[in-house]
Amino acid sequence: MTHSPSRRRFLGQSLSAVGLAAASLSGGLGGLFSLAPSTAAADSGKATGWKAGVAKAVITPEKAVWLAGYGSKRPPDGKIHDLWMKALALEDDKGNKAVLITSDFQGVPKIMSDPVFEQVKAKFGLERKQIMFTFSHNHCGPRLGDDLIDYYPVEEDQEKLVEEYTQEMIVKAVAMVGDALSKLAPANLAQGQGKTTFAVNRRDNREADVPKLIEEGKLVGVTDHSVPVLTVTRPDGKLEAVLFGYACHPTTLSFLTWCGDYPGFAQVEIEKNHPGTTAMFVNTCGGDQNPLPRRKVELCEKYGHMLATAVEEALKKPLQPISVGLKTAFAIVDLPYLHTVTREELVEVAKGPEGIRPRWARRLIKKLDAGGKFETAYPYPVHAWRLGKEMLVIGQGAETVVDYALRFKSEFGPGTWVMGYADDMISYSPSKRVWLEGGYEGGSNLFEYGRPAYRWHESVEELIAKTVHQLVKEVSE
Ligand SMILES: [Zn+2]
Repeated sequence: MTHSPSRRRFLGQSLSAVGLAAASLSGGLGGLFSLAPSTAAADSGKATGWKAGVAKAVITPEKAVWLAGYGSKRPPDGKIHDLWMKALALEDDKGNKAVLITSDFQGVPKIMSDPVFEQVKAKFGLERKQIMFTFSHNHCGPRLGDDLIDYYPVEEDQEKLVEEYTQEMIVKAVAMVGDALSKLAPANLAQGQGKTTFAVNRRDNREADVPKLIEEGKLVGVTDHSVPVLTVTRPDGKLEAVLFGYACHPTTLSFLTWCGDYPGFAQVEIEKNHPGTTAMFVNTCGGDQNPLPRRKVELCEKYGHMLATAVEEALKKPLQPISVGLKTAFAIVDLPYLHTVTREELVEVAKGPEGIRPRWARRLIKKLDAGGKFETAYPYPVHAWRLGKEMLVIGQGAETVVDYALRFKSEFGPGTWVMGYADDMISYSPSKRVWLEGGYEGGSNLFEYGRPAYRWHESVEELIAKTVHQLVKEVSE
């Protein structure tokens, strides 16, 4: 076990259990990102060779697209604040580029993100490895495409509105990426870390018991309470953008009013604190984490404020400059289902009363009737981006549980960000532990997402981790 002064100094800013766990590892790839002292100048005004461009677009629906998630009909009744899609374009001194999209969407499906990636490639020449489309998983955001398609009662007018809105968002996302790229200008990057504790492991703590458990200090289960922060500062000192993350479901609210849930309130507060700055949120593997207690606007505002405060605290401390250099890698992993459903099985399920499961079965039977086939695996997207020697971004599709963030941060060391909810909603993405335990995130619930199966194969964490390691190696050479 070794602790270099530079590593200890950075860890002084990240006293979470995760940071300490990562520090206890030595050697391996972790060293690549944590041991090398940086010569970049984040806030000194000295040019580091980075360029950055930031753009944003309002995505609040103008028509009555239902709110997404929770498996019911949710027509909107107004808004608390606008919903946003935001883009951060980066370019290093060799002309390597990447664009990160963050958004207040609940779930971006493949049929929406694929056209965005194709058009961005055609218009701006960016390959798939250079763009990541993340969504906060905000449950006060709108339905999109075929995301959770069987969750909702089928009404023809609504299907049309969802389709129309999704197409508009594809156009808007592509235009926003172009806008961010057109604004590339010298910038300095730096990272830090805050902490806030409102995320609760929802698998291990009964929601009704949570207030009492908090009072008694008896909450259990794994969490990741760290708040990674990346600043983008212009050479004149202007804070252009703040990217921050947290591992927790934006499910504080379940009413019918547009807002960004806790990440929305946090972004609004940070932008108010820093006029002219764009605040961007990424959900860092909060698949099994809930903001508890919940269901009140005051609680949502409180959690947003707690998160914004954690970001502000991180900004007050010395930040670690990110030296220039950008490498990106991307791969699709075919994640196998444990068993692909058969027509016979579906016919039985389709007999059930109205609800998600019979809707799912009937839709899949129609697909077979039309000559369609069911796949036995799903194309799962994985990204690795290296920013300088100091920062590693791992991006994963689906609702990744917190084990992924804890594992990869431990394996690759400080400066590692693990973003779930990237490119494609898919379903939950359980770790091996969660798969073995079963339950909502690990068990037989893939039908809820429209997949032709109930469960993933036991090997999914192993397959994802193998690919992550290959990609990290690729961007580290
Ligand atoms: Zn979820």
